[in-house]
Amino acid sequence: MATSRTKPTTTPKMSLKAVRAFLNALDKAHPDARSELIYHNHFELLVSVVLSAQATDVSVNKATRALYEKAPDPASMAALGEDGIAHYIRTIGLWRSKAHNVALLCQQLLEKHNGHVPNNREALEALPGVGRKTANVVLNIAFDQPTMAVDTHIFRLGNRTGLAPGKTVRAVEDALIARIPKEMLRPAHHWLILHGRYVCKARTPECWRCPVTEWCLYKEKNKIPPKSKTTP
Ligand code: SF4
Repeated sequence: MATSRTKPTTTPKMSLKAVRAFLNALDKAHPDARSELIYHNHFELLVSVVLSAQATDVSVNKATRALYEKAPDPASMAALGEDGIAHYIRTIGLWRSKAHNVALLCQQLLEKHNGHVPNNREALEALPGVGRKTANVVLNIAFDQPTMAVDTHIFRLGNRTGLAPGKTVRAVEDALIARIPKEMLRPAHHWLILHGRYVCKARTPECWRCPVTEWCLYKEKNKIPPKSKTTP
């Protein structure tokens, strides 16, 4: 019986030499890469990252501008209480549970950490609303630790390009940590997020203007830009 050929579903793994070249090209494309969240201290960074789960950085920044004017530290945020916090963040997805978690998180920071954001994974992940990804972002940005927070963009990029294929978020995180040169790990987090957000988009990767196409192993590269609208 004849069998039809199936399309490959996995992307081959990029060589380690190519990983370095791929990241160098992203560095050139995003020389000042940094988080797009707006914050002024470690506490605001932590809260913004908690609020950014399943929400855009733009929507979080819009809500936190007024919130942080009113409550820039755990004590003033705790004083607002859950309802007070909710008032400021209603435009963000999952605002009810996020307001609940942020109120509890502030209480724990005050009771267990003297109002400071802890600098280790165990203590961070023990805080309400803080999972591994949030802890990784805070450890990377606030405490200069070589962590890799795998969000939807980085998970897609790791698999699509062959940079760090993996079936789960944790598998991609572990592969990235193992494959990215140590000195590049901290900025690589930002390069990859920005690249996934603005170029290697989920539905229509913009391969025609991609700076890393030379090393990317994705088989179905999108090489044709959409026709620009012309006026008759
Ligand atoms: S070539 Fe295309 S698929 Fe590969 S990283 Fe660039 S945008 Fe993404």
